[in-house]
Amino acid sequence: MTTDAQSIRDGSVVQIHFKLTTDSGQEIESTEGSEPMLYLHGANNLMPALEAHLTGLTAGKNLDVTLAPEDGFGERSGDGPQAWPRTAFPAEIELVPGMQFTATAENGADEDYWVLGTEDEMVYVDTDHPLAGESLRFVIEVISVRAATEEEVAHGHPHGLDGHAAH
Ligand SMILES: [Zn+2]
Repeated sequence: MTTDAQSIRDGSVVQIHFKLTTDSGQEIESTEGSEPMLYLHGANNLMPALEAHLTGLTAGKNLDVTLAPEDGFGERSGDGPQAWPRTAFPAEIELVPGMQFTATAENGADEDYWVLGTEDEMVYVDTDHPLAGESLRFVIEVISVRAATEEEVAHGHPHGLDGHAAH
């Protein structure tokens, strides 16, 4: 693991601890108590608006930023939940709230859906991400920054802390 003082830019492999909460303080995701997250900067692995805030930071820096819904998971479309029969889904797939899938809508276009929950033989789905309409607060600590290897850039993701992990 390199410990140079590289600042985050496109092509950096970055290790961060982060906590994501909604505006109202509901915790969505956190690396607290587990390994930091490793990601390749500038490869659409994080929300572009979040990457813009991370650009230029170095290891040891902290960031506390709140993204508006349009920079996060989008505004709510207002279409609301739909109830689909369980038989519309492959029986072997376990349907978990928050699961995303793509299906062809009535207008013939592919549309993203999220599973809200299941009840009896019905599955409730929504075309909005469960966090659409929410402002997202990210509290981030930059743990390490290094240049990506050519292979990592080509793949669009990091290969472990040292860049040589097999996968
Ligand atoms: Zn790879």
